[in-house]
Parts: sequence; C-alpha cells; structure tokens
Amino acid sequence: MKNLHNALLLKQLYGLKQMGYLYTDLTLPSYRASDLQLPSTMDALIKQAIGCHLCELSKTRKKVVFGEGNPHAAIMFVGEGPGATEDDSGRPFVGRAGELLTNMIEKVLFIPRSEVYITNIVKCRPPNNRPPSPTEAHTCLPYLQKQIETIQPRIIVALGATAYHYLTGDESKITQIRGSVLEQSGYKLIATYHPSYLLRNPSAKKEAFEDMKLVKSMMR
Ligand code: SF4
Repeated sequence: MKNLHNALLLKQLYGLKQMGYLYTDLTLPSYRASDLQLPSTMDALIKQAIGCHLCELSKTRKKVVFGEGNPHAAIMFVGEGPGATEDDSGRPFVGRAGELLTNMIEKVLFIPRSEVYITNIVKCRPPNNRPPSPTEAHTCLPYLQKQIETIQPRIIVALGATAYHYLTGDESKITQIRGSVLEQSGYKLIATYHPSYLLRNPSAKKEAFEDMKLVKSMMR
C-alpha cells in the first residue's frame, strides 16, 4: 500500500505545515505494514473511510460519501467528488446530476441503478465544488483502489476528465478520449461526460448516449 504510506506521510507534513514549518529535516515515522493495510471487507472499509482525516477535505465535509450499489456489480461508475446534496445525504449522485445518471443507467443500460456501483475519486466534498487537488485525489485513491479490488467490476465508466485522469494517469481532454475503451488490469475502462457537464451542455447528451450504448454492448 505505497499510496497509503504516502498519504500518511503527507498527513504528517500537513500537520507540520500548519505548525509553521516551511521545510523539515525531521525524521518522519516509519509505519508498520499492519498500519498501512486498508481492510478487505466493504463494511470495514466504509467504517475506516467514515473516520478518515487523511486530507484537508475532512475539515469541511458534512458526511463521507463512500459509494453505494451492488457490492458484486459488473459495472462501476466513478465521478469526481461529492457535491452539496451528496455531502448532506452521504450518498453519491443524488442531486440533479444524479437523476440524469440514474436515467442513463436505467433507460440506456436497462438495469436498475441498484445493480451498479457508484462512487467518486474523493469521498469528501471539495469546497465550492472545485475539483479535488492532486494531493487530495492521490490521498483518497487507495479507498477507490480497494473498492475496485473488492467489487471486481468488468467495466468501469469514468464520469468526466478528472475521474479518467486519476484512474489512468492520462491527462487527455475528455473530448479526445470519451467513447474509447481502455484495457486495464482486470477491467475495461470507458470515459464519458460527467452528468453535471451534460446538464450545462445538453447538446453533448447525444455523445454520452452513444458512450452508454457502447457500455451496453460491452455487457454482453
Ligand atoms: S477525501 Fe478521502 S482521504 Fe480525504 S478525508 Fe475524505 S476519505 Fe479521507
């Protein structure tokens, strides 16, 4: 769990920064392997995330939005981070964008929303709906990696460029990579527009519809 190790070190560095350090030559603690393991069961993972204070987002969140859906889902949807409605409710994609995502799942894939698993790159709301910083995203990624490892989906749909970027490391624009299928280790990845973007740009819904039809064909 190199990422979690790095996250714990980052937390130490944040603490030092808040105390006024601009640089440090202090020896940071080395963590035992048992400290760096995230739990393997979903229930234990949720419990750990709910008490998580590894990054700055923990200071302003109301609720940790871990994710929801079928723990054995064949398809996972990964967005950027919770918004205000999600922060209030503790559930992912429940506002207007969530309603659109639910329609995309139920009216194009023809499966109930409860059959897929929905989560985000970061589990706590970035203030004012800004994108998560690279530090916040990388600090939170071990939770997503563990969710993927536990659920073992066949297909992951990245909702928007931020989700695609942190799932692949690729910084391409969403307009360049949407609709193409990437073979990842253990699953296929496809990127499409984030539902919030579709609400602001309804003309892009046609392309998102094509992407979802592709997902549907990949389910067979
Ligand atoms: S965003 Fe992730 S890493 Fe940051 S506090 Fe929330 S759960 Fe922890």
